[in-house]
Amino acid sequence: MPDIWSEALHGLEPRLDKQTFDMWLRPIRLAGVDGDLLHLRAPNRFLKEWFETHYLDCVLDELTSRHEKSFRVAIEIVEDLVVEPEVREEVERRPAHTPPAEGLSAPRITAQPAGLHPRYRFDTFIKGGCNELAASAAMAAADEPGARFNPLFIYGGVGLGKTHLLHGVGHELHRKNPSLRIVMLSAEQFMNEFVTAVRHNEFDQFRARYRRDCDCLLIDDIQFIAGRDRTMDEFFHVFNALYESGKQIVVTADRVPADMPGMEERLTSRLNWGLVADVQAPDLETRMAILQAKAERDQIALRPEVALSIAELIRSNVRELEGALLRATTFAELRGLPLDERFVRDLLGKTNGSDRPPVSIDAVQKAVAAYFSIRITDLKGKRRHRGVSRPRMIAMYLCRQLTGASFPEIGIRFGGKDHSTVINACKRIESLKQDEPDLETAVESLRSQLLV
Ligand code: ADP
Ligand code: MG
Repeated sequence: MPDIWSEALHGLEPRLDKQTFDMWLRPIRLAGVDGDLLHLRAPNRFLKEWFETHYLDCVLDELTSRHEKSFRVAIEIVEDLVVEPEVREEVERRPAHTPPAEGLSAPRITAQPAGLHPRYRFDTFIKGGCNELAASAAMAAADEPGARFNPLFIYGGVGLGKTHLLHGVGHELHRKNPSLRIVMLSAEQFMNEFVTAVRHNEFDQFRARYRRDCDCLLIDDIQFIAGRDRTMDEFFHVFNALYESGKQIVVTADRVPADMPGMEERLTSRLNWGLVADVQAPDLETRMAILQAKAERDQIALRPEVALSIAELIRSNVRELEGALLRATTFAELRGLPLDERFVRDLLGKTNGSDRPPVSIDAVQKAVAAYFSIRITDLKGKRRHRGVSRPRMIAMYLCRQLTGASFPEIGIRFGGKDHSTVINACKRIESLKQDEPDLETAVESLRSQLLV
């Protein structure tokens, strides 16, 4: 007999995309009921925490509407949850990597794997709301390679830590198991090697390196191969060979797979098989933490109020933030001036005059709800009535345009919707704006209202 938990989950299933459901909700199981307290089990801490922060409320709402009373939950972590037969079959077909036995005849390889940047490790990576999913998933992938998050696809703008996380996975895997064969390279290098192999008739070696002698493939900036047919084809076969033998694959890109013109459909679909996680521009606290960490590492005396000034002036990307700190310390030293707030503002302020404070998702939701005289809960809800679905799409569109938030993040902030819903809403508004002057007026007046 299905339990009340599974019933509620299945009630939600049609409203979530399959990947989200399988990844974050299905693994949470009911262990027992104690009045209004549900005892749940999650297979690991990461899943538990992610479920709690992002999906628990939806399930509790569903339970309340089904049973007309409220419930509480207690979630326990149980490492070896029994998986259902159909799931188990799939897991068995994709065995997690088993390291070769270590013996006298198998010397330990202790050198750092080629291509890994010594500083791009997890312990030098600052986690914040802006990169939480990507960072946690990268760590989970390094903990259980080939298991849950495979492939792991990390995307986002320039200088936001994608490459850093990718190398972090490599370092961590190597630290845990130095004999693991880690292959780390950019998509561009992959293409160059492939072209060279074809030219010199060394295709067998190429194939062996990527398909056979590789336990973990880390590929940076995959968007580079979009439109390069033979390289895409080769990568497709490499991907299949590794995936089928349960090897971990981590890929980064500057955008989601579906947004890469020229990328083959069969590749984009594979890149979506595992977890797709984004990195966002860092918030103020994260920027401060990154500056402090860098100052400490480089032995720069950086007072908190000076760090704050830099963090307030440089908002968009971590590489620029690091560059600004370097510039400020170097100039202060050269001119023999103290590194204080005034100096920082004089030096960095001018170049960033156009850098205005970002609009928040909350502000957009509030403004849109007020404009159309509807409730914010309606914006976050599921009703498809045109009177709410139009404002909801407009709100999503404005969030995307003004806040710098990613599609998945916007989805989450609109009551746990899938990123594809947000993408569709944005496309829809773009096209409706062409045909409906009233809608365009609404959007533009909201935009100017939010940007004052
Ligand atoms: P991307 O690949 O996204 O363009 P990188 O990974 O090259 O960005 O990061 C740019 C610089 O910023 C690197 O020096 C990296 O170490 C640093 N960086 C980015 N994000 C973080 C973070 N969260 N914590 C610490 N350093 C970071
Ligand atoms: Mg990069």
